[in-house]
Amino acid sequence: MKLLLVYPPFCPPTVPPHSITYLASFISANSNTEVKCLDLNAKFHRLRFPDIYRRLEKARESINPYSEMLEKYSSSAKKVHRKNNLRLSEGEEPELFQELLEMILREKTDAVGVSMVYNSQVFYGLRLIEELNKAGIRCVAGGPAAVGFVEEKVEVLKDGAELLKYLAGKEKCTDIYAPDYSHYPASDYLSKEMIYPLRSSYGCSHRGCAFCTHHGSVPYRKINVEEIESAIVKNGMRNLFFIDDNIPAERLSELAEMLRPLKVKWWCQTRPTEDLLGMFPKLKESGLTAVSFGVESGNQRILDSMRKGTDAETVGMVLEESHAAGIRNIVFMMFGFPGEDEDSFMETMEFLRKNRKNIDIVSASVFGLQKGSYVHDHPDEFGVFGIREYTTPLGESIGYRVRAGLGEKQAKVMKEGFSRELREMNQLPKIFCLLKEQSLFF
Ligand code: SF4
Repeated sequence: MKLLLVYPPFCPPTVPPHSITYLASFISANSNTEVKCLDLNAKFHRLRFPDIYRRLEKARESINPYSEMLEKYSSSAKKVHRKNNLRLSEGEEPELFQELLEMILREKTDAVGVSMVYNSQVFYGLRLIEELNKAGIRCVAGGPAAVGFVEEKVEVLKDGAELLKYLAGKEKCTDIYAPDYSHYPASDYLSKEMIYPLRSSYGCSHRGCAFCTHHGSVPYRKINVEEIESAIVKNGMRNLFFIDDNIPAERLSELAEMLRPLKVKWWCQTRPTEDLLGMFPKLKESGLTAVSFGVESGNQRILDSMRKGTDAETVGMVLEESHAAGIRNIVFMMFGFPGEDEDSFMETMEFLRKNRKNIDIVSASVFGLQKGSYVHDHPDEFGVFGIREYTTPLGESIGYRVRAGLGEKQAKVMKEGFSRELREMNQLPKIFCLLKEQSLFF
């Protein structure tokens, strides 16, 4: 039995995919299935943007040409992705379709699993499935974006255990973590050096933020440090980033002890909590080069309402200490959480101004209501009403109204009014906000 796991266009081609790599190792460890991975997203970009890949060679040594090359990629790719998704939604063939399809057919596989992590991968992925079905190849899909209308077009499987049952009829499995990145040629990636995604846990240890759905219903579970270490050594990783939404302080400390002798550079995301204070020199010594903090607001009332479990004053100290230790940071801010008013908005701006010298990049967004989040399920507690769902070409969106404070549109307009100031706070090129892992290099 041969299985090919495919990662379709479109998303940035700077790192190899974690989703199919992990699945491949899980299926191989639990069955006799021969599994291969194909990153068609990276193949698409290498074929479609040869000039930018060539430019990478000249730009790799210093930050300005490198970030300009990434900016060029980003602006060109945005148009190409949009144009092709439009074509696909109108039933037309996207660019390089036959070439990518041929890469799959060449593998002479029995089954294909298509990973849909981002909404922007759904249309291309479904079109490939349509053609593969015509060729008599059975297909399944999976991933966070394989929901809604995708389920009407292809069988969607939830995880590795369901895929194993589908392929081999097996119910029992061993949960191992041994991603093997040898499937991917480095020349397919738009990155100075290979950067590898790794996971250190499932779920989120906090699971409290009222706006969040990332943790889903997955209970928090750590992956053994030894398994992570083995994945790093076997793949010869020098640069890595943890895809976990939040690694708490105690776990960061365990990881740092394992990572220090390996001489790698690494990146992670965490909440800026008090227990991080005093830890940054140790983290830096272990190779932690850049970190993203979920700061969200500088106003304590809003932080409490969000159930963020952080304290604005402590957040300032965390930024100061991490910066002093020489660790780059990106701060995620979220304006317009229900209950936000002009005063709390301005207090957040003041917070950013006050801490500006300790911030490398501000990544500012406006609150969006997510189905399944605590706010969505308890709207009265947040003065939210009039929730309505509507469909956009790339999925569902949710509108709402608030009894007091800034509404959705007002928050967007107000944030727009400060966009220039927010942009000017960045000490690193803004493209590192989109391609966060690239901040590992500079
Ligand atoms: S925002 Fe981050 S820390 Fe908060 S619940 Fe979600 S994943 Fe956890």
